[in-house]
Amino acid sequence: MSVVDRSASVDSSLEDEVSSWIDDNWDPNLRVGEWWQLLADSGYAHPGLPQAAGGLGYSQTKAMRVMRAIAAADVMGPPPGLGMMLAAPTIAEHGTPEQIARYIPSILNGREAWCQLFSEPVAGSDLAGLQTRAVADGDEWRVTGQKVWTSQGDIADLGMLVARTDGDLPKHRGLSYFAMVMDQDGVEVRPLREMTGRTFFSEVFMDNAVVAADAMIGQRGDGWRVANTTLAVERASIGAGSAGFALAQPGSKANQFERKVGEVVARSKEKRAGAHAPSVGLKLFHRYAELARRLGRNTDPLLRQELIGVYSLLMVNRLNLQRARQKSQRTGGEGNIAKLIDSELNRQFRDVSLRIIQADGMLAGRSSQTDSSIAEVVLYAQGPPIYGGTDQIQRNILGERVMGLPKEPGPDKSTPFNQLPRNV
Ligand SMILES: Cc1cc2nc3c(=O)[nH]c(=O)nc-3n(C[C@H](O)[C@H](O)[C@H](O)COP(=O)(O)OP(=O)(O)OC[C@H]3O[C@@H](n4cnc5c(N)ncnc54)[C@H](O)[C@@H]3O)c2cc1C
Repeated sequence: MSVVDRSASVDSSLEDEVSSWIDDNWDPNLRVGEWWQLLADSGYAHPGLPQAAGGLGYSQTKAMRVMRAIAAADVMGPPPGLGMMLAAPTIAEHGTPEQIARYIPSILNGREAWCQLFSEPVAGSDLAGLQTRAVADGDEWRVTGQKVWTSQGDIADLGMLVARTDGDLPKHRGLSYFAMVMDQDGVEVRPLREMTGRTFFSEVFMDNAVVAADAMIGQRGDGWRVANTTLAVERASIGAGSAGFALAQPGSKANQFERKVGEVVARSKEKRAGAHAPSVGLKLFHRYAELARRLGRNTDPLLRQELIGVYSLLMVNRLNLQRARQKSQRTGGEGNIAKLIDSELNRQFRDVSLRIIQADGMLAGRSSQTDSSIAEVVLYAQGPPIYGGTDQIQRNILGERVMGLPKEPGPDKSTPFNQLPRNV
């Protein structure tokens, strides 16, 4: 059986229900594409989406419980990536029924991968200052400009594009949001190599790229509001951490649909035990505390103090997430706070891991004495304080939107974009 009985009570024994669904459906010989389709049909691929968009309408807490139950069952998770994390919730909120039917099913079953085409060389924190233009051309839009930092742009089938459709309006009001097909003549994707050795993100150049008129999500000029939905979901998702299950890459370019799911799970276990980027949570904390014991460093009072600092921050994060789930206690800033804590956790894990391994850090964590994940943690720690809005921007949002402090003065909210001073 692949369809969940939506009338059943899910409150009392959600985990049992997920686990019995898995017992009925999981088979390590299934292909990735088949398993993802089963998850999509059941609503468990993205249970937080409304039912009309292929989800189960669950709260964030309940959706996370489903993801944890899938992870605990040691089976493969739903398709990861920015389609699932950002595009699906944004389209569910702002898309027409036709757009929901066109885009969301192929996100839920992993057939199409997405990237986020927001940041530009001179528009990151000041996203509303972006310069990519979309010009109406009959039934289409023609898009010209450059994006940068586009995570997984090289494997994306579609991009969440924010472009300027009206330069005569103030900068926040002249933007529109589109779903752009990546595989076309007018789009060139150039992968960038990071210091981790990977090419996680790309530059994307658009020269008269074509976007169909019905691919505009929301109304013309409403792009800032739609983009803010994407950004709010991004902050909250980054802060909530990951369930930690085995994953395959979605999309037609990665083309992993024919892999056997049992092999994906086995491979993922090998990777998690080794150098693969582990998430900065309680499991990694215990791994490093054990490493400190093994290397005899656990008697160093400074190290002990640092370790307990990391542990305390993990607990603070947990409390913040709990508060985010209680409507009556929410301040509206929990997503920003969670994102700030995530940045700080990444920095603290970096520092404490280097203090544990001491001079072995010069071997980039490759010493058999230590833990090969450390090189990854140390190199990766620079990213989280920047992506999804930098730490400073999170603090600005908390100050201005949550605490109601006065906004920075300046002409940019009312002056037509065309008349604003530019760097380039
Ligand atoms: C790993 C990674 C993945 C990413 N993936 C994507 C992606 O998929 N798609 C995408 O569109 N973008 C992506 N980004 C880009 C990211 O969103 C931007 O890098 C970020 O918004 C900062 O913009 P910027 O790099 O232009 O820095 P700037 O905006 O130039 O900021 C430079 C510095 O000035 C500070 N600053 C700027 N304005 C203010 C202000 N008003 N008040 C106080 N301080 C300020 C910033 O905090 C920062 O320290 C990614 C970035 C990283 C690191």
